[in-house]
Amino acid sequence: MFLFASSFQSLLAAEIKGIRLWQDPEKTRVVLDLTGKVEYKVFTLSNPSRLVIDLKAFELKVLLEKVELPPKLVKDIRSSRHSKFLRIVMDLSNSVSSKSFTLKPYQKFGHRLVVDLRPKGSKKKVVKRAASQMMNKNRDVVVVIDAGHGGEDPGAPGGEKQVCLAVAKRLATLINKQKGMKSVLTRSGDYYVGLRKRTEIARKNKADLFISLHADGFHDKKVRGTAVWILSPKGASSEMGRWLENQEEASDLAGGVDISHQDPLVAKVIIDLSMNHSVGESVKAAEVVRQQLAKSMPKMHGKTIKKAAFVVLKMPDIPSMMVEMGYISNKKENKLLKSTKHQKKIASSIFKGVKNYFRKSPPAGSLYASLAKMKSYRVKSGDTLSEIAQRHGTSLQELRNYNQLKNDRLRVGQVIQIPGV
Ligand SMILES: [Zn+2]
Repeated sequence: MFLFASSFQSLLAAEIKGIRLWQDPEKTRVVLDLTGKVEYKVFTLSNPSRLVIDLKAFELKVLLEKVELPPKLVKDIRSSRHSKFLRIVMDLSNSVSSKSFTLKPYQKFGHRLVVDLRPKGSKKKVVKRAASQMMNKNRDVVVVIDAGHGGEDPGAPGGEKQVCLAVAKRLATLINKQKGMKSVLTRSGDYYVGLRKRTEIARKNKADLFISLHADGFHDKKVRGTAVWILSPKGASSEMGRWLENQEEASDLAGGVDISHQDPLVAKVIIDLSMNHSVGESVKAAEVVRQQLAKSMPKMHGKTIKKAAFVVLKMPDIPSMMVEMGYISNKKENKLLKSTKHQKKIASSIFKGVKNYFRKSPPAGSLYASLAKMKSYRVKSGDTLSEIAQRHGTSLQELRNYNQLKNDRLRVGQVIQIPGV
């Protein structure tokens, strides 16, 4: 069924130093940390369901009872020594299909064997809903919020992945409370999502805006400040940009995605052409978000939006930005980024910026687009102010303030200004 991979590297036994398991909504990932290259085979057995990993010339240096098993799929883990190989068996609660690959050492990670387990017969059904959503006339605008890193990719030392997720969730809550808007998170827990997968999630959900949240580190620990980045088709505009691009690549190698393959040239030209539109929109969106952040953040990094060639922002059709909320490598900022109060500030500033952007550039078919056309309303017999507010997706309070009304009494023919969403 399976053959051992070609060349046998060394007769000296290498070691399994660690076994880590991660769960995301689609799969369970098993990562074996190894001290050397591996010859292996992976297969599944049924009745009862099991995953078997055989490794040639390896010693187990892990206490299996200490391996953290995520709930649901993996019930137990055990090992046995055979004359030619070491066998690791996982008892599973469901039948799965498995996919395995190895990763070369990268930065603090050594050789790794990765096995992804997916429930058998699991196909996604997201696409249809997204399509029908476009047909809907007063549809919600969709903001995809991307919490950087996660799972086996911790991001910058000092807790980047946790800060990203915490702010992403706060921002998502604000957006979901707003009429006419909804949000989708690329990850909602501590697991790794590949960069290309993140953009795929944005496309599938027909995102009108994509916001990636990071709090990266920098080798100069003094560097601090909040910044908003957009894609530069020509590559990095600064040393910081190049640094961050490298971090992004590191992130994918850490998380186990091979980004070495290049887009075919023709596809690239088409993407470059259609990208002009979304780059223009990205600039607009990033500028208003930056404006709001500049009002509330203690320090901004640089005076304008910044540009670099991030993979995660390379979407020809979707305006995208990356918010570097602060530098987690800076002592002062690290502390701020972990405080609830500061996280709320970041989320609410981004939210205000997003709202302003959709007011200025409402996407076709959205409630924002309908409301943008409606600037004023002439009162008809039987109208009440609260009804008018409701009909226009605003609040009574906002109508009162906007029109400087002393009370809620209306007369027929009176013109009410509608503030928009
Ligand atoms: Zn990051």
